[in-house]
Amino acid sequence: MVIQKVGVVGAGTMGSGIAETLAEHEFDVILIDKTTKAINRAMQWIEKSQEKKLEKWAITEAEKKMILAHIHTTLDLSLLAEVDMVIESVDEDLELKKEIFKKLDLLCGPEVILASNTSTLSLTELAAGTLRPERIIGLHFLHPVAKINLVEIIRGLRTSDETVARAKEFVDRIQKVGIQVYESPGYVTTRLILTLINEAVNTLMEGVASAEEIDVAMKIGYDFSRGPLEMADRFGLDSVLAAMERLFREFGDPKFRPSPLLRKLVRAGQLGVKTGEGFFRYTETGERISKPLEEG
Ligand code: NAD
Repeated sequence: MVIQKVGVVGAGTMGSGIAETLAEHEFDVILIDKTTKAINRAMQWIEKSQEKKLEKWAITEAEKKMILAHIHTTLDLSLLAEVDMVIESVDEDLELKKEIFKKLDLLCGPEVILASNTSTLSLTELAAGTLRPERIIGLHFLHPVAKINLVEIIRGLRTSDETVARAKEFVDRIQKVGIQVYESPGYVTTRLILTLINEAVNTLMEGVASAEEIDVAMKIGYDFSRGPLEMADRFGLDSVLAAMERLFREFGDPKFRPSPLLRKLVRAGQLGVKTGEGFFRYTETGERISKPLEEG
């Protein structure tokens, strides 16, 4: 089966980015959310992003129109009965995702691959609630989808070789690099980046260096485009803490214990770019504006 029509469930930050990327590669997309508000917001983001590309002469007006015409929006999940593949990208909530996978399993044709963009949840557990565990897979896109050309292709315990091969072919078609990963908390990307961020926060807490110097050390020393503390501010310190707690719980290993300073900042409501303050300060549009905030 050639994949041409793809359903994207959840039109939030990631779902809208995935829908846009697929449309740019000439897939027909059915983008679904539970609220009209979310759908409208997603289409505004996508149109704005296409407008920016137009301004930079990366696309023509006709191409922009064609890309937007590839995306059809709806609140009606039953329209997914006619797609060739589904990428689920609703909130990171196991019960919600399980319920959606059960519905998709009943709606979609037996050959259809059901993929999840989950960052931390178990594909094996999502698959267990369906009649097609061999066709359940993780496609973990990174934010922002348009810029980051990596997708982790995650195998659940019963994902078949054929499903992995078809998913890899799909990822190739959208010109991203697909790496194959076995199911494990945080896979590769989340596990490694969170561990680095957490250790950077501990290094700051112990007074080894200032936030600015820790970030400069990693930027210049290891050619990072952003230091780990600014990265954490951009991810949102609450999201970093929640994901760190999940890794700690799943592995039961003290090396994943969230830094007390991370907890302190989250308790204080200093969540990074979204609140204007984290390890550094930011404008409303996310630009760094002043000296870092040291631990108090
Ligand atoms: P988000 O909160 O921006 O979007 C989630 C969307 O799902 C919302 O618009 C919500 O209305 C919708 N939704 C909830 N229940 C629904 C239902 N029953 N039917 C249809 N739509 C429903 O979240 P996000 O940041 O886009 O994250 C989505 C998924 O992607 C999560 O699993 C997350 O772990 C994963 N992810 C996030 C990032 C990131 O940086 N934000 C990166 C990689 C993966």
